[in-house]
Amino acid sequence: MRISFMGAAQTVTGSQHLLEINGTRLLLDCGLYQGRRKEFYERNREFKFDPARLDAVILSHAHIDHSGNLPNLVKCGYHGPIYTTPASAHLSNLMLLDSGHIQESDVEYVNKKRVKRGEPEVEPLYTIEDAAQVAQYFEGRHYDEEFEPVPGVRARLVDAGHILGSAAVVLDIEENGRQFRLWFSGDIGRRDLPLLRDPILPQKADYLLMECTYGDKAHRDPQQAYDELREIVKRTVERGGKVIIPSFAVGRTQELVYDLHQMMDRKEIPGIPVYVDSPLAVNASDIFRAHPECFDEETREFIAQDKHRMALGFEHLTYTRSVEESKALNTRKDPMVIISASGMAETGRILHHLKNNIEDARNTILIVSWQAPYTLGRRLAEREERVKIFGETYHRRAEVATIGGFSAHAGQTFLTEYAQATQESVKQIFLVHGEQDAATAFMEKLAEAGMEQAVYPELYSSLEIKGGR
Ligand SMILES: [Zn+2]
Repeated sequence: MRISFMGAAQTVTGSQHLLEINGTRLLLDCGLYQGRRKEFYERNREFKFDPARLDAVILSHAHIDHSGNLPNLVKCGYHGPIYTTPASAHLSNLMLLDSGHIQESDVEYVNKKRVKRGEPEVEPLYTIEDAAQVAQYFEGRHYDEEFEPVPGVRARLVDAGHILGSAAVVLDIEENGRQFRLWFSGDIGRRDLPLLRDPILPQKADYLLMECTYGDKAHRDPQQAYDELREIVKRTVERGGKVIIPSFAVGRTQELVYDLHQMMDRKEIPGIPVYVDSPLAVNASDIFRAHPECFDEETREFIAQDKHRMALGFEHLTYTRSVEESKALNTRKDPMVIISASGMAETGRILHHLKNNIEDARNTILIVSWQAPYTLGRRLAEREERVKIFGETYHRRAEVATIGGFSAHAGQTFLTEYAQATQESVKQIFLVHGEQDAATAFMEKLAEAGMEQAVYPELYSSLEIKGGR
């Protein structure tokens, strides 16, 4: 077998790994590389292999850095199956359409500038129309259901505990009379995240292809995030303020809703209105509800206690779809929680909520995820006194609170446990989906634990795997 690292090699985004086995070609993930605009187009537009000659694709989960270049793959001639869990297929359809919309608007912006400079216009990476073509190729496979993507390969998807539908990919390969197991981690989640089952540790892997995003950092306990959220809501309500939360529409929003529901149910916080104000989050929450097979035991029990309610909907919760409903929230003066996209406060409805609430000292702006440099979210997280929203300067009087414990990725401790689960059998560990510092720190950690098998492959590098039992 030959493995080629076509993306998320020595960086985090653009997950894409090509396997050549018994003369066939199998692609693991087809993610979008996210970076500066020029590199974005260069890296994503052209594949280093012929998409028309691929035999199968397996998708670990719906996040755009794993699924986001599928529309381009199909546009470039791939018309075969894309295996993934039914929940991931469902979520990907929604997220790819949204991504197509983003690609179109980005190019519109770029072209305006190009026309001014007298340069020729450019085409979007893909359109909404292109994104809509992907749906017909998804082949849903349930967790632990065995399938044969290409001859000689038995595949299985197992729980990754990262987002709804997320999976690790287990490949039992037979080639030239030799058998071996390649375990692709996808993105590794965490134990005890709300809603989701815990990640499954790799078993009997000969080769481990694993992410190392937080290879240099240990995370705080998810329970601590729950406690912090409770205290922040409590003190904001006591001062008669609103809690404004910029949040990614898929994943984090549903976790927050679930936690707030539990807090109100246990009477830990007063029953105040909660608004999820983002069309994408509304649709994503419907998809979460349609896939209870992905929920953990605790969530199922919570739902079972009262069959008339759902974990992601309760009497105090409203999903707002229309712009009018969204605007109506501005005139309300009572305490409430507003969760809205985008997660880094760069675009979307969250900007209106921030603008209307940032100058009132009773309110809280709550940051629940990592914020990229130069974004409004980062400026808020750094507690800047004056920020610009829609070109106007606002004097921040609202409290800013941050909760770090909500990450959907494993921290260093669990990553180490994950790799160590293969100690008896593993011949090589390929570290992907991590920056240099994270990978280096993680390799040191593994070496301390007596594991020297880890390598950190370069982008577009490729190597032959002969090994087997
Ligand atoms: Zn992910």
